[in-house]
This record gives sequence, C-alpha cells and structure tokens, in this order.
Amino acid sequence: MCLNLRRFCSCGRNSAYLSCRDNLLPAEILVNLFCPECRPGSLENDTMLQDCGWVLEYDVDRAQAYFTVRGVRSPATPAFIFDAGYLSWQGLAPGDQEVNTRLHQRLAPLVEQDLALYLKSLRSEWVAHVSRLKAAGWRKAQAT
Ligand SMILES: [Zn+2]
Repeated sequence: MCLNLRRFCSCGRNSAYLSCRDNLLPAEILVNLFCPECRPGSLENDTMLQDCGWVLEYDVDRAQAYFTVRGVRSPATPAFIFDAGYLSWQGLAPGDQEVNTRLHQRLAPLVEQDLALYLKSLRSEWVAHVSRLKAAGWRKAQAT
C-alpha cells in the first residue's frame, strides 16, 4: 500500500506525504524525490517534474508497464502521473497533511463550545491555505 506514504527527499532534510490513486503504481516508481535544497540544477524532462522547487523523478518505463496492464490509455509522462494523482502529493503540496493536522488540533477546543463555528473556521482557514498555495504556484492548487 502506498496510501498516506511519507517519503524523505534525497538530502533527508525534508519530507512529503504522497498518495497513489487506486494504488495502481507502487511507491518505487518515484525513484527520487528532491526538496528545494537538494534538487538537481537541470531537469530531465522525460522523467522529472518540478513543483515549486521540489522535483519528482519517476521510472516512466515501469509506470508505462503498469498503465498498459491496467488499461490506462494515457502515456506515462511525469505530468500525467502527477496530475492524474497516480503518484503525487497527498493534498495539494508536500506538507498539506501536517498543515491539516495542525489546523484540526488548533481548532479542536471549539468542537465542544460551538460546533458551527468550528466547522466554519475549519472551512475558511483551509480555503485561505489553498489560496496561498495557489498564489505560490503549486501545481495541484492551480486546478482548484
Ligand atoms: Zn532535500
């Protein structure tokens, strides 16, 4: 299973939460993950995708083999693998999972006091978070 998978980048200073749509691709298809501090200077566009300084490097040949077997018609490009969610950030950016957890923890005291306010705050704070990601240029946030 590669649901809710946490993966450290090449230099080990940062990590990202990943998700795999339909569990179709194994996590090893992401052969390298680079944070903005350890990313390579130039990208191999056939195998790599850049998102706000992070770089994901895929084994596109193996991904293609999985797609063919499972009847996914689109060619296995880094952009397709990422955008279709087959091996991509969980949420919209590498740290979304932690942001979400912290937000729930921070607002938790409201649950007992005022549930409606809790739900409203949760929603408005998350919307604000998403618009910050969108403004910063995160690829998945652009589609929201
Ligand atoms: Zn790194």
